[in-house]
Amino acid sequence: MAKVELKGVTKRYGELVVLKGIDLTVEDGEFVVFVGPSGCGKSTLLRMVCGLEPISGGVVSIGGKPMRGVAPAERGVAMVFQSYALYPHKTVAENMAFALQMQGMPKAERDARVAAVAQTLQLTPLLKRLPKQLSGGQRQRVAIGRAIVREPQVFLFDEPLSNLDAELRVQMRLELAKLHRALGTTMIYVTHDQTEAMTLADKIVVLRDGLVEQIGTPADIYDAPSNRFVAGFMGSPK
Ligand code: ADP
Ligand code: MG
Repeated sequence: MAKVELKGVTKRYGELVVLKGIDLTVEDGEFVVFVGPSGCGKSTLLRMVCGLEPISGGVVSIGGKPMRGVAPAERGVAMVFQSYALYPHKTVAENMAFALQMQGMPKAERDARVAAVAQTLQLTPLLKRLPKQLSGGQRQRVAIGRAIVREPQVFLFDEPLSNLDAELRVQMRLELAKLHRALGTTMIYVTHDQTEAMTLADKIVVLRDGLVEQIGTPADIYDAPSNRFVAGFMGSPK
């Protein structure tokens, strides 16, 4: 079943046309990675799926329901940003519980959810710390944990590992793959890192200049790039 569907989605900022008509289906449980050069519209696309940015044209549907007019908190999605965006004056536990608190979830239930997710992500010893007392990798793990506690239908990741050093990036990539296997939740993941795309994706969407250049499995994209741009960008010979 299609979990997220984009039909003819466009985005303009004044004169600038950023997305020129995107058609895409993300199946339930699929790990889809958007790749493309800086400025091609990846973040804009994610922000439109989660409702942080109005769309100029077309339709975004989640779970078969058109999202026009549906507030971000009502969409069943959770976004993880490159910059972590943790609340600096809240502890790890408070950061993770905050969205649940805003939903009005009772404290005992919140605490239980946070404890379970902290366990999964090996954050239990860090729950009382402030973000500034964590390493980059730990902060990113908290940002991911904060998304997981909300039990979204869809996770949206915007270059979540790009601020980490190379070694940690590899480790976190493995953890994300494991997480996807464990949760089975639909994930849409944006990166400009070809290795991340090749190793994480069920399906890769190559974007260029506001258009989809190619959609396929990592093997499709690597073995049969549809044109020179895709071949060059994904680093395979053609
Ligand atoms: P990517 O994430 O692929 O690097 P973005 O989606 O951030 O690309 O940006 C796509 C294009 O839209 C860029 O040219 C960027 O400058 C422009 N853009 C993004 N946000 C805005 C905004 N709020 N106002 C005007 N232009 C924007
Ligand atoms: Mg971006």
